[in-house]
Amino acid sequence: MGGTFDPIHNAHVGAACEALAQCQLDEVVFVPTGVPWQKEGRGVSDAEHRYAMTLLATQSHPRFRVSRVDIERRKPTYTADTLRDLDEEYGPGTELFFIAGADIAESVLSWKFIGEVFAQATFVLVNRPNAVLSTEHWPPAAKVVQVEMPALDISSTDCRRRAAAQRPLRYLVPESVGQYIASRGLYDHD
Ligand code: ATP
Ligand code: MG
Repeated sequence: MGGTFDPIHNAHVGAACEALAQCQLDEVVFVPTGVPWQKEGRGVSDAEHRYAMTLLATQSHPRFRVSRVDIERRKPTYTADTLRDLDEEYGPGTELFFIAGADIAESVLSWKFIGEVFAQATFVLVNRPNAVLSTEHWPPAAKVVQVEMPALDISSTDCRRRAAAQRPLRYLVPESVGQYIASRGLYDHD
């Protein structure tokens, strides 16, 4: 599951947990992005902060882990590269799934090397409030699984705005992530 995770929130871990169960996955690897090429407008928090928060949010789940492949790359992140790196790390015989929210279904087709991505992994698409899941323009060869979870109307954008306005993040992000944000004033100047 790739993401900016700025910050990681309860819908991210909730989606991962549901995908793990419904698709009978062995584990979920969270991959915080390095330099997110699609988010150049806004300054994204330092990768080490996003990595630390991802660790905090996932550490209590025995089947969650966090990978630094995209952070270490230090150049624009393409999902095809991420999947190739994970494939190399896990070795032959590993089946890869890419977990994402329904909102990415539209933009996926404009991703670089998307053909490669479709060949590398099965997409696991999770419902997300206000996002219409449409894969009708996807190539027939694309492998897609849909996973339903109790809809959580949480976004990192809203979490950052709340933090900046000193509004509570409790129950939107894991407790430890909330503490991390508060103690560093991570979004105070957003
Ligand atoms: P931002 O507001 O900064 O875009 P975000 O909440 O969308 O943040 P991302 O890091 O962009 O979080 O998303 C990582 C992945 O998690 C994406 O595939 C996204 O679709 C999915 N996702 C994020 N929030 C939800 C949610 N509330 N329900 C389902 N999937 C979600
Ligand atoms: Mg997003």
